[in-house]
Amino acid sequence: PHFALDPAQLDFDKGNGLLVMVAQDAADGAVLMVAFADREAVTRTLETGELHFFSRRRGLWKKGETSGNTLRVVDLRADCDGDAIVARVVPAGPACHTGATTCFGEPQGDALRALERVIQQRAAEAARPPDPDATQGRPSYTRRLLADRNLRLKKLGEESTELVVALADGDKARAAEEAADVVYHVMVALRASGVEWADVLEVLRKRAR
Ligand code: AMP
Ligand code: ZN
Ligand code: ZN
Ligand code: ZN
Repeated sequence: PHFALDPAQLDFDKGNGLLVMVAQDAADGAVLMVAFADREAVTRTLETGELHFFSRRRGLWKKGETSGNTLRVVDLRADCDGDAIVARVVPAGPACHTGATTCFGEPQGDALRALERVIQQRAAEAARPPDPDATQGRPSYTRRLLADRNLRLKKLGEESTELVVALADGDKARAAEEAADVVYHVMVALRASGVEWADVLEVLRKRAR
C-alpha cells in the first residue's frame, strides 16, 4: 500500500516515543478508537496497510490480531506539529473490545451508516449456507430484495416515482418518507451489485472539492 504520510513529519520526542493515533471510519468519519503508536507501530502500519498501535502493556499491537476486527487503512494524516495521526480506516468489525462499533459508544445520528450496516449484515447472512437446525423465521424483506434482481429494481423504480409524486404534491412529510424509501432501495441495489457505499461517498467527496 502507498500512503502520503512521511514518517519524517512525525515528532515522537514530545510524547516520549509515542504519538496519538485516531482511527476514523473512512465511510462516515466516526471516531472509532484512540490509542498510542510508537515508530514501529507506524512503520508496520505503512508496510501492511493494517492499523498497528503501541500497547503500554503489550508492546506492538496489531488491532484485530486476536478479535479479527482489524482496521484497514485508506489514509494516514499527521497533524500540524506531527504528534498525532488520524488514520481513515475500513473496520472489519466492531472497533471496541466491548463489541461496540466505537469506543465512544454507538455512533449517533448517522442513520445512513446504520442502515448500510444492517443491509451488509443481511447480505452476509444470505451468503451463508442455511442452518438446517434453525427454525424457519420469515425471511427479511432486505434478504428477499437481495435475492431477487427484478424485484429490487422494480421497487427502486416505484419508490422513485412515489417520491416524485410526493414532491409534485408538495407533501413534505410524504416526501421525506418516500426519499427514505428511495435511499434504502438504492443502498440495497448497490449492495446486491457489489458497489460499496463508501465508493458513493468518495464520489460525493471528490465533487464537493
Ligand atoms: P484486538 O486487537 O481487537 O484483537 O484485541 C486485543 C486486545 O486489545 C483486547 O483483548 C483488548 O484488551 C484490547 N483492545 C482491543 N480493541 C480495543 C480498543 N478499541 N480499545 C482498547 N483496548 C482494546
Ligand atoms: Zn499536535
Ligand atoms: Zn473500546
Ligand atoms: Zn415508498
